[in-house]
Amino acid sequence: ASPTAITVGIGRGAELGILVKSGEALEAAEKLDVVAFDKTGTLTIGRPDVVDLFAWEMDERKLLRLAASAEKPSEHPLAEAVVRRAKEDGFDLLPAEQFEAFPGKGVVARIAGMSVAAGNRILFDEMDIAMPDGLLQKAIGYEEEGKTAMLVAVDGKASGVLAISDRLKDSSAYAVEELKKMNLEVVMITGDNPRSAARVAEKIGIQKTLSEVLPEEKAHEVRRLKEAGSRVGFVGDGINDAPALAEADVGIAIGSGTDVAIETGDIVLMKDDLLDAVAAIQLSRKVISRIK
Ligand code: ADP
Ligand code: MG
Repeated sequence: ASPTAITVGIGRGAELGILVKSGEALEAAEKLDVVAFDKTGTLTIGRPDVVDLFAWEMDERKLLRLAASAEKPSEHPLAEAVVRRAKEDGFDLLPAEQFEAFPGKGVVARIAGMSVAAGNRILFDEMDIAMPDGLLQKAIGYEEEGKTAMLVAVDGKASGVLAISDRLKDSSAYAVEELKKMNLEVVMITGDNPRSAARVAEKIGIQKTLSEVLPEEKAHEVRRLKEAGSRVGFVGDGINDAPALAEADVGIAIGSGTDVAIETGDIVLMKDDLLDAVAAIQLSRKVISRIK
């Protein structure tokens, strides 16, 4: 490989706001077969909102206040959505006397002497919390609309569900379309539930989706794709997915993401535009074809 061509390519990338950290990264990008995307914060804006809520044998206001109080210590974007909504509705939050976060599952906190759990089906199953059929149907309905259903239980009894929705980035569908035209396979990896994930994937034209992937398992999924014989690029924002960025043949970090993403990525996109992930691969193809 001509070092000059690579240097020129890296310089061209920098002008476009695409930081390619090494010549190896550029060469590896040219060889990719698969591009896997994290969903939350990468394909979506990553600033979800509570768009609906349904209480089960409990006052709606109490449901929201308890859920928000339990989520207050969490830094998860879903938690922030619930807290923001409760504040907008004028509720004072109660202090959490105890708090535990379960990554990829939810939180459990002690609020005003009550045990409040907020999370997904995995959390409810592990805590042996029964889902009444009416509540389950409501949650499934939200998920079929592409929303995340946050289940809430108070003292071990299912008490409601919040529908939380995160907008897709404008560039997501375009980027996927371009990658497919370039003969790359596009995959979405998410901790979200299969129904909501499928709805989102369908909207942006992604055929292969891996859902309910726990944060520590995202890197395993990337390794599995590699073991199947593919060269894998992973695009992520560093929230829950830094190990996957590291495991990929080419880790592509969203620059507006976390510091750890910027550190871990082989390529960093300085703008929040997913078309720059496409541009990075196009750049690598141009540079390498010039070398050959
Ligand atoms: P993603 O892959 O979309 O970034 P995460 O791995 O962070 O998602 O979370 C996966 C799922 O775990 C969420 O969709 C949600 O159901 C549940 N979850 C994670 N953190 C929380 C929380 N603080 N409160 C409620 N549910 C949570
Ligand atoms: Mg993410």
